[in-house]
Amino acid sequence: MLLQKERQQVREYCIKMFERGLTIGTSGNISVFNRNEELYAISPSDMDYYEVKDEDVVIMDINGNVVDGKQRPSSEFRTHQIFYQNREDVNSVIHNHAKAATAVSCLYKDVPPIHEMIIVNGGDEIITSPFTKSGGQELADVVFKTMGERNGILVGSHGMVTVGADVGEALFIAEEMEFVCDIYLKTAPIGGAKILTHEDVVYYK
Ligand code: 13P
Ligand code: ZN
Repeated sequence: MLLQKERQQVREYCIKMFERGLTIGTSGNISVFNRNEELYAISPSDMDYYEVKDEDVVIMDINGNVVDGKQRPSSEFRTHQIFYQNREDVNSVIHNHAKAATAVSCLYKDVPPIHEMIIVNGGDEIITSPFTKSGGQELADVVFKTMGERNGILVGSHGMVTVGADVGEALFIAEEMEFVCDIYLKTAPIGGAKILTHEDVVYYK
């Protein structure tokens, strides 16, 4: 089966993302890129993560053509492939609707450095993209532009996107961003968390 290893990773990490409370229902999507083949495996659209079999994971080329797979690809495939087309350090992309991250994405406020783990997004603050309707090239362009050289951002009034050298790294960044957003929201009503300095948070890297 074409890209068997990547298909399996997509399936397993979708379940991990769901079981770690990083997304709701069938929302979110995961892809893994095989740089030698210039093909990526991406989760199918609108499918219960526990129902997905290896053959349901869709294989696409980096121009958006379906190469193999029984189902429709994620409606956000363009937001995944734009990173494979343009960033050599990225071999996996994760999008989800994690609760705290999504709540913060609706505020359009940068999350300041309130905890050392914030640094895993690639900057001292967690930033949010402008609002764009989901499922199209416009969202892909806005997410890519907002991301710059970071590894994770919030997507305005929508959720988050993270990227990594592999799917483990992309999920790790997603979990830590969700954690920091949760702390931000919990501390906001009681005066707000102490803001740390760049030096306070940068050492973790
Ligand atoms: P898909 O089920 O098509 O991947 O879409 C989920 C989603 O989160 C859309 O933004
Ligand atoms: Zn979404």
